[in-house]
Amino acid sequence: MVSVFELFTVGIGPSSSHTVGPMRAAKRFVQTLTGTGDLARTQRVRVELFGSLGATGHGHGSDRAVLWGLMGLDPETIDTDSAPGLARTVKESRRLVLAGQHEVAFDAAEDLVMHRRRSLPFHPNGMTCTAWDAQGAELACRTYYSIGGGFVLDDDGSGRPALRPDTTPVPYPFRTAGELLATCEHEGLGIADVMLANEAARTSEAEVRAGLLHLWDVMVACVEHGTTTPGVLPGGLKVRRRAADLRTSLDGGDPAHPERARGVDPLGALDWLTVWALAVNEENASGGRIVTAPTNGAAGVIPAVLHYAVQFLPGPAEDTVVRFLLTAGAIAAIYQQTASISGAEVGCQGEVGTACSMAAGALAAVLGGTPAQVENAAEIGMEHHLGLTCDPVGGLVQIPCIERNAVGAVKAVTAARLALHGDGRHTVSLDKVIKTMMETGADMKVKYKETSRGGLAVNIVEC
Ligand code: SF4
Repeated sequence: MVSVFELFTVGIGPSSSHTVGPMRAAKRFVQTLTGTGDLARTQRVRVELFGSLGATGHGHGSDRAVLWGLMGLDPETIDTDSAPGLARTVKESRRLVLAGQHEVAFDAAEDLVMHRRRSLPFHPNGMTCTAWDAQGAELACRTYYSIGGGFVLDDDGSGRPALRPDTTPVPYPFRTAGELLATCEHEGLGIADVMLANEAARTSEAEVRAGLLHLWDVMVACVEHGTTTPGVLPGGLKVRRRAADLRTSLDGGDPAHPERARGVDPLGALDWLTVWALAVNEENASGGRIVTAPTNGAAGVIPAVLHYAVQFLPGPAEDTVVRFLLTAGAIAAIYQQTASISGAEVGCQGEVGTACSMAAGALAAVLGGTPAQVENAAEIGMEHHLGLTCDPVGGLVQIPCIERNAVGAVKAVTAARLALHGDGRHTVSLDKVIKTMMETGADMKVKYKETSRGGLAVNIVEC
């Protein structure tokens, strides 16, 4: 069983698959060198990025992330303010301190290669790390796959990923939505209760709760920073940050639009969903501190809908947060275990579509929905994202990503409410829509899967 704490992790923007994943992989590589006692003998390291990582890595900050990982830094704890300067120093000085211990020469032009048109066979997000000693003898060579959401798989030596399942026995294992619903019915439990029992097999319930509330704190801090930071996003597209101005306007600070003040406009909640989602994704685009949910590109949907649940719905905030994140985590686990949450593999339907599905189900749960209604909401959330391509302009997680999260959040609320108006019976099951998403992703042309070679990415002029 995938843990909720693998699905929601604290990281750094702008991309879970292209920033967090490569950073973790590079760090894993230097840990390998440390583990085999080869770190001190290492004279040179070289990292090659393939497929989507190579094609859009510059826009996603993959190059900087690799350097941070080689330095032994961690996405959860890296100082997001000083991190860009660290990477700049490596490039300018051509020196790199591996794992914070062993300095080597490192020429980014030679030793950090972005293959724009070469892919590894298993997955579009592949990377290879190699280390040599002073005589040029190879000390280690490893291939990794960044499969989305910050998850990284090692190569097993034959070009296939080495899957190392967590063998912790859990009371209610499930892979599919069908299995999850059967457990809920048999045990008389809600989806969040099932997830909590499974998480508690690894640690205490109190720690699970504390961990979830910590994730919420990071989301709140991210929204706060995003809604108080105006300016222009990095990367060259000159995309203006809008969350701060919109928040001021919604707080009633815009005399031209007094109706926008909280509680006056009957559709004001939709504007708040928008501002929270924009805030998170603007933070993500600027390399800020983010909770993957389930990826960075789609990280705005869950915090936006959870802010809505906490601020607009009755009930104790902490209980709402815990139930919401456990339910969203259970839905994400189904996607992670049976499909893909990688835009490079299945398009944006697997990122924003999955986030919408998770948020819709979780909102239905905190609104008192039955497991069947929650599953229905999650299904609706994905059904109306089917076919959504991934075509980030300039390889940056900005256009269409930022607005797409705002629209995904609004769709999630609609999906939850639509499901709650029914009794849980519906024609298309969540498992069927996930299968359809995977098949649609497989049929999707490569140019629509995080390569920036199709769709919006080629139809607007970069300035
Ligand atoms: S278009 Fe969607 S999948 Fe692609 S980078 Fe943006 S958010 Fe991620």
